[in-house]
Amino acid sequence: MTKPRIHVLALGGTIATRPDAAGAMQMGLGADDLVAAVPTLGKIAEIEAETVSRVGSHSLSFDQIHALASRIRALEADGIVVTQGTDTLEETGFLLDLLLDLDVPVVVTAAMRNPALTSPDGPGNLLAAVRVATDPWVRTHAKALGVMAVMLDEVYAAADVLKVHPTRINAFASTQTGPLAALVEDRVVPLSLPVRDAIVTARRRLGNTVPGKASPVALLWMALDEPGGLVEAMLAAPDRLGYRGAVIAAMGGGHTPERATDILVRLAAAMPAVVSPRAGGGPLLEKTYGGPSSEIALRKAGLIWGGRLHPLKARVLLETCLRAGLDRPAIIDVFAAWN
Ligand code: ASP
Repeated sequence: MTKPRIHVLALGGTIATRPDAAGAMQMGLGADDLVAAVPTLGKIAEIEAETVSRVGSHSLSFDQIHALASRIRALEADGIVVTQGTDTLEETGFLLDLLLDLDVPVVVTAAMRNPALTSPDGPGNLLAAVRVATDPWVRTHAKALGVMAVMLDEVYAAADVLKVHPTRINAFASTQTGPLAALVEDRVVPLSLPVRDAIVTARRRLGNTVPGKASPVALLWMALDEPGGLVEAMLAAPDRLGYRGAVIAAMGGGHTPERATDILVRLAAAMPAVVSPRAGGGPLLEKTYGGPSSEIALRKAGLIWGGRLHPLKARVLLETCLRAGLDRPAIIDVFAAWN
């Protein structure tokens, strides 16, 4: 029986590090090295290995992920596995999910423990990712599953997964929806299919490929007694700072400190400003509280409601909308689907 052809693309990250002379971990391993470390891969798939870059994911750019998406679209494979760092996997995976609409599984994986440590998780995660990409249930439902993240024998929707711990081996979770599947022995055990209406709406507005140039989006985290000074600076020097949009990580059901509210309303008049839950999940409220910094007032004042989308993911989505040249009503429509 012919084995599925799985294309492994390596970007870098802890999974691809090796120690330098002083013992510090440096980027170094390529896709061939990662694949060679897991001989079992050859038993379940025809593996094609490609090194895309050797960078920490904390230094990846939107442009690099757009280039990766174009490369993936051009491949003729039965499944795609991307290896990268864990630091931005929750963002890059979501961006790939917005950009790719393929009939074959696309899986992103990484490692928390580097190859020099006892029991590194990289090889096991790579094997699990390839198993997922070759699994019959996953292949049948590839479009419905969207881009997936596989970490520590769990399969998550890239649109929902979050990095919830900086060092622990079990650092990933889908806090809002739970995993899509689990791995046990050599099997993938299906658990659920994701609700993807919001992704479908976004894709319809964005088109399949998103041209255009980088459109920086500021991430403004609201916190106790925040005076709004950074927003003042953004409005005073828009060209120098260069932000074209903003995500406001709001408190609770969609609230901001009253002292910062006027300036946030002015920001919303100057550029698309999306309100997203700093609690990490939603949905946000729409019509419960009154008062100047309540959800009712902020919505009336022109802030765009980001619904249940985590601030990091809202920032990725807004950058993508701006890059694609969407106007304000279209951006509102895209985010409304997450409410
Ligand atoms: N800083 C690393 C990266 O994101 C961390 C990791 O891979 O776990 O590339």
